This record gives sequence, structure tokens and C-alpha cells, in this order.
Amino acid sequence: MKDLVEMMEKYVFQTYARQPIVIVEGRGAVVRDMDGREYIDCIAGIAVNNVGHCHPKVVSAIKKQAELLIHTSNMYYTEPQARLAEKIAKITPMDRVFFCNSGTEAVEAALKLARRASGKTDFIAADGSFHGRSMGALSVTSKEEYRKPFEPLIPGVTFVPYDDAGAIDDAITPKTAAVILESIQGEGGVRIPSDDYLKTVRDICDDTNTLLIIDEVQTGFGRTGKWFGFEHWGVEPDIMTMAKALGSGFPIGAMAAREEMAQKFQRGDHASTFGGSPLACAAALGTISALEDGLIKQSEKSGDYFIKRLNGLKHDYIREVRGKGLMIGMELNMSGDAIVDKARGRGVLLNCISGTVLRFVPPLVITREQIDKVVEVLG
Ligand SMILES: *Cc1c(COP(=O)(O)O)cnc(C)c1O
Repeated sequence: MKDLVEMMEKYVFQTYARQPIVIVEGRGAVVRDMDGREYIDCIAGIAVNNVGHCHPKVVSAIKKQAELLIHTSNMYYTEPQARLAEKIAKITPMDRVFFCNSGTEAVEAALKLARRASGKTDFIAADGSFHGRSMGALSVTSKEEYRKPFEPLIPGVTFVPYDDAGAIDDAITPKTAAVILESIQGEGGVRIPSDDYLKTVRDICDDTNTLLIIDEVQTGFGRTGKWFGFEHWGVEPDIMTMAKALGSGFPIGAMAAREEMAQKFQRGDHASTFGGSPLACAAALGTISALEDGLIKQSEKSGDYFIKRLNGLKHDYIREVRGKGLMIGMELNMSGDAIVDKARGRGVLLNCISGTVLRFVPPLVITREQIDKVVEVLG
């Protein structure tokens, strides 16, 4: 293990703060390290392994497709892309899909489409937002420490306080192409908006002819107890982004839009060599099929149970527990780093975001017994 860690420290860019274990295997909600130690995984590859590590449907879909055809480019038609596009159109309120390879790329595609479709240039994003690290996605990501070293970013982006619809109303100008929001802020610390927020923003966007982009990269595919986060508030975006859990870890992202919007992206306006490859689409079809085996409902129920159990922990340093489905944050009045390290030592993987928020985004297949174990360790 020491050799592998040293190799990565020597040869890989040092842009990540890694926890000191080498993971070699995963099943369901459990991963195993090189020394054979097992951990209950409350991170799930950052809300990616929703159907559990190495779900049989995902593994067999990848194996079968890998033996048939891995890649062709978008110069040709393929069956997995056809079937996945139809599936996404059915499980979202959107009509058409553009395939790419990550959440960041999905956001880039959404920003480009918004400019193309509206003929306008500017964007409004929220404080605490996270939409990715490429120049466009970073331009609508609020965190100063991520942005500052790479300025100038794209111009015309205004940040407004999160969960304040009036601030969006005030910020919209005749140049505003779109408002971009996460339905529940993820990296910003699992921030859940007030019940009327997204609905009011939707109305404001309609009244001012502004597009609404909802970034479902982290909240999608059952994470919050619904297929997509915006369903909690009965709101539909004009453009949406997906990635993280879509391929269970096989890289795939998607940007989807309603028909009128999608028609504005013309031949040559956007492209990706790998986007929607047969193998990536097969992994996503396997994932969606696994989710359809009752996992969305299970996320809601297990999330309610997990939140109830976490709320039962009474400690001075716990400020609040909040979440929807299995997207849960525990806000502390101190740094969570020491707890993350101690929990790992006792077989539970967690992380701490925004400095003081412990994040719980386990595979949706996590059992009651595993949740009990996590709560016991935290206690
Ligand atoms: C993770 C995330 C992204 C970026 O996705 P990558 O796959 O890391 O490029 C974008 N938006 C949200 C809401 C995310 O959580």
C-alpha cells in the first residue's frame, strides 16, 4: 500500500486531498481496502454509486457491450444511445438529450445552449453553487478559492444569495440568458431551499423570458428520493444537466432540454468524440434498470430513517441535520475533519464539505443495519 501511495504522490498531479486508504473492491454499500478492511461507504464515489458498487445489472451490461462494440463516435447511429436517449426522455420532463462525459461538460453544454437559444449572453447563479471546474462551469460556480486563480472567467455572471427569489428578480436584465441552480445545493453543504423557492424562480423566469437551467448532476437518479430533485417542488426546468450516478461510475453526462430549446442547437453547434458511446450508454441503461427495481422509493425511506437516527444523536457540536432521501448533511459548529478520520478508522467513509458539514450520500441500497452501524460509530 505504501508503494502505491508513494507512486501516486510522485506521478499524479497533487490537486486532491486523498484519504490514506487504497480501495480495491466494492459490493453494495461496502468497500474493501488492500489490507482487507471493510468500510460502509457513505460517499459512494461522491453520489455516483447510487445502485451500489458493482451492481450485477451494471456489471453485466458493461461486460456484454464491451465484447460487442466499445466506441464508434457520433458519426454513426448505435442502439445503446438510441435506447438511453428514449429512456431519459421518459424519466425527465425533457424531450431531447445531448450526451457528454461528465457533469462539468453537461453544464458547459447547457450554458452554450442557453446562449444559442436565447440570443442573450448573461447568467445568474447562486452563492454556494457548484457546477464544475472548466472555464464556463467555473464561471457559474461561486467559491472564490476555486475561481480567483483562473480569472478572467466568462463575463456577465451575477451571483445572488441562495434561496432568495427576489434577488433573482432584481438581478435579471434584458441580457440575462438563464438562471442556473442546483435543486438542492450539494458541494455548498447540502442546502435545501424553502418550499416556494424554485416555484417562484420558475414564475419569474417565465415572466421575464429567462431560461431556467437546473443542475441535477448530484441530485439525480434517486439520490433525494425522487428521480430528480426538482420533482419535490413540482417545477420543470427548460434545460437540465445529469452525470454522477447516471453511469454508476462509468463516465457519462447528459444535458437535456425541451423541444423548442433543443431545436436551437444546430448541426455543428456542439460535439463530443466520446459522448454517448455504446459502452457508456450500456452502463447507464444498466444503472437505470437497477434503479427501477424499487431503489427510488428505498432512497426516500432509508433517508427518512437515516435522518431520524442522526437527529437522535445529541451533542453540543451538532447544529443541524438536513436532507432529502439519501442526500444528507450534518452541520457542525466545528470542523468535521477529525470525525472523518476517526470514522474511517472505525469502518465508515464520510467526507466534510464547506468546512463544517458532514456529508452522507451512501449507495441507495444501504441497509438499516448498515445505517445503524454508521450512527453507532458517529455516536
Ligand atoms: C459534481 C458536480 C458537477 C461536476 O461534475 P463532474 O462530473 O465532476 O464534472 C456539476 N454540478 C454539480 C451539482 C455537481 O455536484
